[in-house]
Amino acid sequence: MEAQGNLLKMKTSLVNGEVDYQLKLNDELINMNQLIGKSITLDYQHQINCIACGKKTSKSFSQGFCYNCFQTAPETEECVLKPEMCRAHLGEARDMAFAQSHCLIPHYVYLAVASGIKVGITRETQIPTRWIDQGAWKAVIVAKVPNRHIAGVVEVFLKDYFADKTNWRSMLKNEQARAIDIHAEKEKAIGLLPAELKQYVVNEEPVWELSYPVQTFPLKPQSLTFDKEASISGILKGIKGQYLLLDQDRVLNIRKHNGYLVKLTAE
Ligand SMILES: [Zn+2]
Repeated sequence: MEAQGNLLKMKTSLVNGEVDYQLKLNDELINMNQLIGKSITLDYQHQINCIACGKKTSKSFSQGFCYNCFQTAPETEECVLKPEMCRAHLGEARDMAFAQSHCLIPHYVYLAVASGIKVGITRETQIPTRWIDQGAWKAVIVAKVPNRHIAGVVEVFLKDYFADKTNWRSMLKNEQARAIDIHAEKEKAIGLLPAELKQYVVNEEPVWELSYPVQTFPLKPQSLTFDKEASISGILKGIKGQYLLLDQDRVLNIRKHNGYLVKLTAE
């Protein structure tokens, strides 16, 4: 098969607990799970198109935006990375219509385990997508809050006790930290919350377990980029998070290359 288009993070779904990955290139939807074990080539066409406005850009900002959109698009507003800074609940945002559907809707605060345990927040529509993108294999919802700002406030509070970043190397090596008792960690998190935040806690939440389509995990992941290698090829060993795992411990973060025009060939 052969397809060409601008990269965008892979679409995911869960099929019996295992993640199914679809890569959309132009109008073609490619089932990536079916390519595992096969030889694939990604040829960068030396063109990046902004994922917001579509214009050509010589450099990608914040995973796929041109400089102008990086400065003005609602998708790159400060509250994307710092939810506690969100001011949409005060009627202030780059784009209030966007804020209505992205900030002023229920959010979840969760604990997830990729390599170690971490705290995070996400919109209610992004479960389990958010966890899959991070390569987590276990996750549980801790609190449900009415908007992005409050989610950020809870997260900031818990960041003193839990990590908020995923170690991508450990995640790709599949260091699962199986000793972590996520129920106990949730109880600990709840116990730490002050009374005004405890009201948002949700009990009786199921623990999600996710598995990824991987034949062999890399021992020492080496990150590839089209900025250095225009043609990337090898045997696809698996997919985890938004990473394609290739032979010889090489890994390619698809999300990091959002907007890059590539041609995919598979045998
Ligand atoms: Zn743009």
